[in-house]
Amino acid sequence: MSDLVIAIDGPAGSGKSTVARAVADLLGWSFLDTGAMYRAITREALFQGIDVHDAAAVAALADGATLTTLPRVTVNGRDVEDEIRTEEINVAVSVVAANPVVRSSMVARQRELAAAQPLGTVVEGRDITTVVFPHASVKIFLTASLEERARRRGDESEDSVARRDEADSTRIASPLRQADDALVLDTTGRDVDDVAQEIVQWLKRNPSN
Ligand code: C5P
Repeated sequence: MSDLVIAIDGPAGSGKSTVARAVADLLGWSFLDTGAMYRAITREALFQGIDVHDAAAVAALADGATLTTLPRVTVNGRDVEDEIRTEEINVAVSVVAANPVVRSSMVARQRELAAAQPLGTVVEGRDITTVVFPHASVKIFLTASLEERARRRGDESEDSVARRDEADSTRIASPLRQADDALVLDTTGRDVDDVAQEIVQWLKRNPSN
């Protein structure tokens, strides 16, 4: 088992998932989309008719839920892969993700999942470089212009992306912020493979590996 982790954070649409997948493919490592975990818990809360503002009920649901992200996103045995990127979830997920009990349950799962991988894991989210894996081999903060980020999100409007970023960056529990020792990469107008190669080169140069 391996404790090698490449941690990637950044706002919505900065290219985290696409770049993280490409880096994982280049290295033969596994990949963990932590946003999908928060989205799946949100989906399950709505499915069960739980008000996402009911912190205790959502916390109990998160603690007891079974969750997978690969090969498909499932929660409590239900495949929700095609149900977690709707506007309804985009709005509600920021509330669920600000719940500290939900966060500690997700963080514990993320650490367990990464520790169980044979080679290494590329993990992407909002608090990966700062809270989940502050000692990761490589820490990356991806950015891109708001215009390009909204374009990449397809169905999600510029307003919705900006609102989610604001909520994620200003919440009390593990807000999105740039780690002091993260490599900052602006992906605006850049090719995915080019960014992925840069990260792999950074890993090879990093003396802590
Ligand atoms: O990455 P994605 O846009 O799918 O994430 C959805 C939401 O999940 C984010 O807007 C944020 O509220 C939450 N999230 C988080 N911490 C993470 C990953 C995602 O709070 N590590």
